[in-house]
Amino acid sequence: MKNSLALLLIFIVIICVFPIARYVHAADPTAAANATQQLRAAYQAATKGSKKIKILIVPGHDADHWGTEYRGALEADLNFELAQKIYASLKRQKGVTVKMPREKSQYISELRKYFVNQQTSISQFRREHLQSMNVLLEEQIIKPVEGVYHNNVIEEVANRLYGINKWANENEFDIILNIHFNDTPERKRNRVGPYKGIAVYVPDKQLNNGPSSIELGGYIYKQLAKKFATSNMPKESAGVIEDQKLIALGANNTLNPLSVLIEYGYIYEPKIIKQKNRGAYEDKAAKQTVAGIMDYLKGL
Ligand SMILES: [Zn+2]
Repeated sequence: MKNSLALLLIFIVIICVFPIARYVHAADPTAAANATQQLRAAYQAATKGSKKIKILIVPGHDADHWGTEYRGALEADLNFELAQKIYASLKRQKGVTVKMPREKSQYISELRKYFVNQQTSISQFRREHLQSMNVLLEEQIIKPVEGVYHNNVIEEVANRLYGINKWANENEFDIILNIHFNDTPERKRNRVGPYKGIAVYVPDKQLNNGPSSIELGGYIYKQLAKKFATSNMPKESAGVIEDQKLIALGANNTLNPLSVLIEYGYIYEPKIIKQKNRGAYEDKAAKQTVAGIMDYLKGL
């Protein structure tokens, strides 16, 4: 009798929980507020010796696909230079641990092996998340949002980016910081474009990691805006811009950690591209970025 009662209870739980299980994929603002609260509590505990907050600093692009370029300077290299400074500065902070997925010219060996050994599971991860996203869009639980124009990425790049997302989830990173320099689309080679200034991209609020990443992005932008002009590109003029499709931000709900993508100005701006100015620019950019992250974690 007891057994059959237990079975009945299990059955009721199953039929009650399953129909809603798929809906939990749509972002819930209370869950997001909780995510920030939990992260702040974990940070407080970490400063007293508990498990540290894990931050992944991703210098955008790589040696094979270097993003944009201007007069011989490759964006991937500039991203790496700045990422190293942010890494060094964050490493000195209490309660956080930092990692970078690549060196200047190649991915760290852990990720190189991961891309090869997990090729099939990365494709499956990508496919499954795309399918669930399509269900959410079809059922209008998530509304499609057209973001700022970005170059389409080729398959190889998309697989690597989704691979990094899967790896970051499995390794339980809390925060991902993507470091980039911007460019004007279809700018003439070796000519400057009309746009300049910084922009912080965050996931669309409807994505699982959206609301808490938007909060984090707001803190980082606030610190950056103290020292740098905001982008004059009309769609970036808000400073913090939501995006539904950037893989690095967790497109199709592929990221558990918070993710922010910072465009540290346009590559042809003299303070960035001129060698004699760049070091000082990077130092300032790193300092403001770290201040923003720490403000967020401390809830200031
Ligand atoms: Zn880039």
